[in-house]
Amino acid sequence: MSGYPDTQLYINGLWRDGSNAHLSIVNPASGEVIGLVSKASESDLDEALAAAAAGFQQWRRVSAFERSKVMRQAAEILRDRSAAISIMMTLEQGKPLAESKAETAGAADTIDWFAEEARRAYGRLVPPRATNIRQMVVKEPVGPVAAFSPWNFPLNQAVRKVSAALAAGCSIILKGPEETPASCAELVRAFADAGLPAGVLNLVFGIPADVSNHLLPHPVIRKISFTGSTVVGKQLASLAGAHMKRVTMELGGHAPALVFEDADIDLAVRLLAGAKFRNAGQVCVAPTRFLIQERVFEKFLDGLVKAAEAIIVGDGLRDGVTMGPLANPRRVEAMESLTADAVMRGARIATGGKRIGNFGNFFQPTVLTDVPQDARVLNEEPFGPMAIVNAFSDYSSAIAEANRLPYGLAAYAYTTCAKTSANLARDIESGMLSINHHGLALPEVPFGGIKDSGYGSEGGMEAMEGYFNTKLVTEAT
Ligand code: NAD
Repeated sequence: MSGYPDTQLYINGLWRDGSNAHLSIVNPASGEVIGLVSKASESDLDEALAAAAAGFQQWRRVSAFERSKVMRQAAEILRDRSAAISIMMTLEQGKPLAESKAETAGAADTIDWFAEEARRAYGRLVPPRATNIRQMVVKEPVGPVAAFSPWNFPLNQAVRKVSAALAAGCSIILKGPEETPASCAELVRAFADAGLPAGVLNLVFGIPADVSNHLLPHPVIRKISFTGSTVVGKQLASLAGAHMKRVTMELGGHAPALVFEDADIDLAVRLLAGAKFRNAGQVCVAPTRFLIQERVFEKFLDGLVKAAEAIIVGDGLRDGVTMGPLANPRRVEAMESLTADAVMRGARIATGGKRIGNFGNFFQPTVLTDVPQDARVLNEEPFGPMAIVNAFSDYSSAIAEANRLPYGLAAYAYTTCAKTSANLARDIESGMLSINHHGLALPEVPFGGIKDSGYGSEGGMEAMEGYFNTKLVTEAT
């Protein structure tokens, strides 16, 4: 299947090849090479840095009103091109076409929301101690940003960084995902075609460590935003710390989903199964540790197994497919090895547990149960279509297990008891808690983790804060 473009770099307003050869793009459903992406050399990165430095001086002087207009125009362009972009995304990443369409629509909504926020970047006046003094708190863009976005949501991980940075008046160098570059490049193209001045938004690809080692310490870059694994996030946060750079880190998770005996079990099964197997589980906020109160354990497990077995796995471009392949062979190997380890330690496979077919990266929707605490999958983020369903007896043991890991990104709970809900809101250690529905990742609400899941927010007004410096101007008149 063609229709998949080669992807170039976008530096200083020009689409062009990098001077460092290409990487191949593989369709995860077929294993076939479908295109190429350009790799940036050090000199390409230096050009991007120079462009971002000049672009920042220009963009910071554009009024918030005008910035907002360009951004809204980019959102409309993205909507107009949604059909073509969604096909590219499914070809390179594997998710079902309906999910790619939803992601493209969501990206446009995110741009719109940040465009509106651009116009509400208020400072404040602080009442002075003497009548001739004026004390102003002013929000200023932090400066050129280096942003690193991953392959699981090629548009939506990038759009949060790009939109918040542009809304605040920053320029940005985005290192997009090398394995899923074309749809991410379409995001950049939408801004370029909307009239964003050259140099304000630059797109590069390359060897991730080479790019980050070059950009992070560079004096032009004032802020880093990274989405990816905790291991890499810690490396980048250390490097950023050594150079006193601001960071937003959106890292791994291992979300607990607590289902209490008073919950609406059918609702819990339906919503949690949807959240677990969306994007084949390659979602940082996917529920993973399903903790089910003993009295409703069998009912929940039975429902989740049925939901997993009803999923139609296949090429995301095919009608009726509800789960695509994993995005790369590394994830299939991870699923196999986590399953083998869990079984070896005494876990039971309630359904799934195996690779499907002998081409593409297909893996069965999998439910493991009776998984002992020392199994790797109860400690490492599986980042795949794997649910672990264990029983708990009382509230305090559920909380102890939910908070046991160093991760603290998302958590879910199902209960009809108001007191339990209130206690959960107080006791769960996570950046986000969704009770009785799946309500995360909207542009207008904060999105981020605590503990090893990172810091800073990629949603809500908090996301803008990460791209501002706060300046005090105090004046005697
Ligand atoms: P990985 O740790 O090699 O890479 C994760 C991401 O970080 C990729 O986008 C990669 O390009 C980038 N990266 C890696 N090294 C980098 C460096 N030195 N500088 C800058 N960027 C760098 O692992 P992977 O196999 O691609 O993904 C597997 C794990 O990554 C998953 O298990 C999951 O925990 C995590 N992940 C998380 C998210 C998320 O949404 N938070 C997204 C993708 C991957």
